[in-house]
Amino acid sequence: MSADTLSLPPPSDEQAYMDVSALEAGHLSVPLDLILAGDQPDEPMNCPSLAFFLRHSKSNKRVVFDLGIHRDIKEFAPAATERFLPVVKQTVAESLEAGGVPPSSVDIVVLSHLHWDHVGDPSPFTTAVFVLGEGSKQVLIDPSSCLNPVAFTSIRLPEDRLRFITDFDLNVAIGPYPRAMDIFGDGSMYIIDASGHVDGHINILARTSPDGAWILLGADSAHHPDLITGKMQIAYRVDVKTCAVMCVHEDKEAAEENIRRMRLLLEVPRVQVLTAHDIYWYEENKNKEVFLPHILLPLV
Ligand SMILES: [Zn+2]
Repeated sequence: MSADTLSLPPPSDEQAYMDVSALEAGHLSVPLDLILAGDQPDEPMNCPSLAFFLRHSKSNKRVVFDLGIHRDIKEFAPAATERFLPVVKQTVAESLEAGGVPPSSVDIVVLSHLHWDHVGDPSPFTTAVFVLGEGSKQVLIDPSSCLNPVAFTSIRLPEDRLRFITDFDLNVAIGPYPRAMDIFGDGSMYIIDASGHVDGHINILARTSPDGAWILLGADSAHHPDLITGKMQIAYRVDVKTCAVMCVHEDKEAAEENIRRMRLLLEVPRVQVLTAHDIYWYEENKNKEVFLPHILLPLV
């Protein structure tokens, strides 16, 4: 599939869409040689772990995508946080409150995956349904079963409000993605299977206007914007002594395929692509009115 033939579904009459706002959700330091191939500067990348608030234009349903970093994360993922030095000035719950949205009023929390810098603190979301990829189920049962158990937290989710997206749910193809779920059934917001970083990693593809603008929220699909444009490649090393593989993605080939799909989306008019740790976007927008209560303006 090439960008020439790629399109997203046209809007219907009175098309529903999502207002999307960024949420401050903590920051971390990432060694560049961990995420980018080739020689990299020693200076780590200080980047956000962004979360997002989405509001359905017709039903007013409130969705949060990812919960960033827990204020006391060192307690819940000590080994991971020793390396990445997290700083949390404002949690997702505080960002929502500051924007006039009580966390208890959120209907759906979508978690891209269960790494420590995306799970945050679920406890203020007292009525929300938590939506996760099917691959996250095994991690919840036994974090030590994963390739990189250190990356997960001991934070627990409300067991009676978990909803796992199954193969059966992923029954729609949209744009470059063969497996998606039209979560509200009206074409306003799709859950996308974006496995590769971990099994069951999910993204959101949402309409941001009634006339053809979209946003792809890519979470950890890529840890640096230069990977999406193709300027840089994913870091991948094998330790010659131990034969241990060093890569931030559990399945590098699937992660690369997922990145190729995001690259195709970049070519489609009026589609914004934004990942959790997008340092370029953050540096350009951190002082602009894109955080709740403001919204990201739809691309024109
Ligand atoms: Zn991750």
